[in-house]
Amino acid sequence: MTETPTTTGPNPLCEIGRTHPRDRHRMRPLDGYDGVWVCARHEIFATVVPQETADALERGDAYTMQDGLAGIVVRQGDERPGGVLLYYRAADA
Ligand SMILES: [Zn+2]
Repeated sequence: MTETPTTTGPNPLCEIGRTHPRDRHRMRPLDGYDGVWVCARHEIFATVVPQETADALERGDAYTMQDGLAGIVVRQGDERPGGVLLYYRAADA
């Protein structure tokens, strides 16, 4: 299979916004990385991963980010074509 992640479809809601109804806002496609969204304000990223991948990951698990740096799983998001949204952030330095 040659599934290429894309940022087609609506931009996902920021993970922070999901839990704070007064602060709902959407993420934006990340420059230079197809298939990755970012909320610069909260430094959270999102990408679509296969459901099996998401099921194998829990909050706080290590997740290699789009730039190869160490990241941490935040949570799963909504279902998308080809998988499910996965929110992650950079690991604490
Ligand atoms: Zn945000």
